[in-house]
Amino acid sequence: MNEIGNIVILTGAGISAESGLRTFRAEDGLWEDHPVEQVATPQGFAHDPGLVQRFYDERRANVRGASPNAAHLALGRLDAQWKGELLIVTQNIDDLHERGGAARVLHMHGEALSVWCVACDARHHWTGTLSDGPPCPACGQVAMRPDIVWFGEMPYRMEEIFAAIARADLFVSIGTSGAVYPAAGFVQQASASGARTLELNLEESLGSRLFDETRLGMASELVPAWVDQLLGAPLP
Ligand code: NAD
Repeated sequence: MNEIGNIVILTGAGISAESGLRTFRAEDGLWEDHPVEQVATPQGFAHDPGLVQRFYDERRANVRGASPNAAHLALGRLDAQWKGELLIVTQNIDDLHERGGAARVLHMHGEALSVWCVACDARHHWTGTLSDGPPCPACGQVAMRPDIVWFGEMPYRMEEIFAAIARADLFVSIGTSGAVYPAAGFVQQASASGARTLELNLEESLGSRLFDETRLGMASELVPAWVDQLLGAPLP
């Protein structure tokens, strides 16, 4: 394992499930009982902004009330100790990687605790609500929306992600269903540029056959064991 220098880790809703944050259920297209078109598209927001603001107000409150689990903590430990390049690309909008001690984190789908003013383009760290129409602290207009990448919008920092994958010796996917593109395509890019690929997930995903190896189980068990293996610690 020591020949591995550069690592890219992709995480999805499954890594936060044991922290009490519900996953996005691809099978029936519901997220917290709402159809995704209603709460995770620009059209849904244009149609009923109040409903979408209330939905993300609730997500923001849930994220604040959740705590990192053993999988987040293990990745925090890995980030602190890994001397090579490492990038945790998360599809999650929660901040549990950061609170689990990881610093090299990229939120490709935005963040629950960030808001974006579409009038002046400012972004603000935000822990409160938007459904009550607070003015933007920078320009005073009532034009703030969740800083979330919705379906049909461009994920953040894709060039940086692709460059990191091109340099990676190891690509690891944790707790993601492989249903949401472009993240679902990262494994193919990683393989094509010569990286080993490993999937850690509760069940076989749509992309499982694309990985060199898949380990099935709970993230809180699989991730700490994998980190111990990588850092050379004796397995318990
Ligand atoms: P997904 O819900 O489509 O897939 C989650 C995967 O995690 C499934 O394959 C499931 O089997 C697996 N899983 C569930 N519990 C697990 C556990 N304890 N350990 C290991 N694996 C487990 O999620 P996705 O692939 O991330 O795509 C959903 C989209 O919804 C993302 O784009 C994300 O932005 C958004 N989302 C984010 C959050 C969050 O921030 N916590 C929560 C829900 C949805």
